[in-house]
Amino acid sequence: MKIGILGGGQLARMMALAGIPLGMEFIFLEPAAEACAAGLGEHLHGDYNDPTLLAELVKRADVVTYEFENVPAATAEFLTSHTLVFPPAEALAVAQDRWIEKNFLNHLAIPTPAYAAVNSLAELTQVMPSFGYPAILKSRTQGYDGKGQSVLHTEHDLANAWQILKGVPAIVEAFIPFEREVSIIAARNRSHEIVFYPLSENHHRKGILRTAQCLPNDSLQAQAEELVSRLLNALDYVGVLALEFFVVNNQLMANEFAPRVHNSGHWSIEGAQISQFENHLRAITDLPLGSTAPVGFSAMINFIGALPDIKQILTIPNAHLHSYNKKPRKGRKIAHACLRTFTADALQDGIEKLRALADITDKS
Ligand code: AMP
Repeated sequence: MKIGILGGGQLARMMALAGIPLGMEFIFLEPAAEACAAGLGEHLHGDYNDPTLLAELVKRADVVTYEFENVPAATAEFLTSHTLVFPPAEALAVAQDRWIEKNFLNHLAIPTPAYAAVNSLAELTQVMPSFGYPAILKSRTQGYDGKGQSVLHTEHDLANAWQILKGVPAIVEAFIPFEREVSIIAARNRSHEIVFYPLSENHHRKGILRTAQCLPNDSLQAQAEELVSRLLNALDYVGVLALEFFVVNNQLMANEFAPRVHNSGHWSIEGAQISQFENHLRAITDLPLGSTAPVGFSAMINFIGALPDIKQILTIPNAHLHSYNKKPRKGRKIAHACLRTFTADALQDGIEKLRALADITDKS
C-alpha cells in the first residue's frame, strides 16, 4: 500500500514513521528541496499545482492524504476526481477560511467566539463597537502559528493592524479570556468507526504551541467528544481531525479545527496505545482503528528555533526526542520531546526541565 502525502514536513515524516511498520510505503509532494520526510519515501519535488507531478502522484499512490490544510482548492479537486483522497476536499475548503469555518461550526451548534467578516478598514471600524476591546483581527486564509493575527486593544490599533494584514479579507473576533485551552483529536475511518483521544491541554506563547499535556478523565471529555462527532459526521470525514477549544466557565468554545494530524496530539506517539499518526493511516486505508487509551502520564514539549543540547534532553528520564531533521530558524518547529511517566509528579518535573531547556534556544 503506497500512501501519497501532500507536504513533506514533520507531520508527513511522523506519518511515515508510523506507517512503515505496517508495511506501508510513502511518496511526498513537497515544494521545498529539503523535505524533512524525504528520507522515508520518494520525494516529488515541485508545486502543489504542478499537473505532471499530480498525475504522477495519482498513478503511484493508492490513496492520497495531506499534512497541511492550505493545499490549493484546485489540487484537492483534481486529486479527488482521479483517486481516493482523505480527509475529504470539503474539510479542506472549510478549514482553509476562518469565516467559512466559523459559519460551519455555528451551523452545527458548536459554539465559537462572536465574529464578523471584514473586507476593509472602514468595515472594521464600523463593526468594532459591537465587539468592544480587546478583540482579534485574523486573516481569513493562510494563517497558522499566530501568523496573520493582531490583538486590537483600542481604536488606535485598527489602522496599523489592517496595514499589517495588507488588506486581505479578514475576520474580527471577540477576545476570549479563557481559563485554559484544550483540544480533542479524533479519528474516523472509511467504515465510519470513530475513536477519540483524551483531551489535551495546550499552552501557546505568541500564538505558537509550546506544551501539550494529555488529560485522562477530564470533566469536559464527553462534551468535546459530542461536539467533534457532529463535525466528523457532517463532513463525512475520514482521517484524524483536531478540534481546538477555549474553556470558558468550564464550557467548551471552539476556536478552530485542523483536518489533519495535529501538534497537540504528538504526545500520543508514546502516550497512547496507538498514536494519532498510525490511526490516521488506518482510517484512510480502511483498517480497524486502534486503541486511544493513554499509557501512563504524558506530555509534549516543542523545541522552537533550534534544538537544545541533545545530551541535556536525554538526561531527563522518560524523555523521547523526535527531531525533524530541519535547519534552525527563529520561530520554526525543529523537534519535540514526548514525556511518558508512571506518576503525575514525575510528569510535572519532566515538563519543567524540558521547558527550561526549550527556553534556552527559543528566541521567538
Ligand atoms: P489560532 O491561530 O486562531 O489558533 O490562534 C493561536 C492562539 O492565539 C490560540 O491558541 C490562542 O492562544 C490565541 N487566540 C486566538 N484567538 C483568540 C481569541 N479569540 N481569544 C483569545 N485568544 C485567542
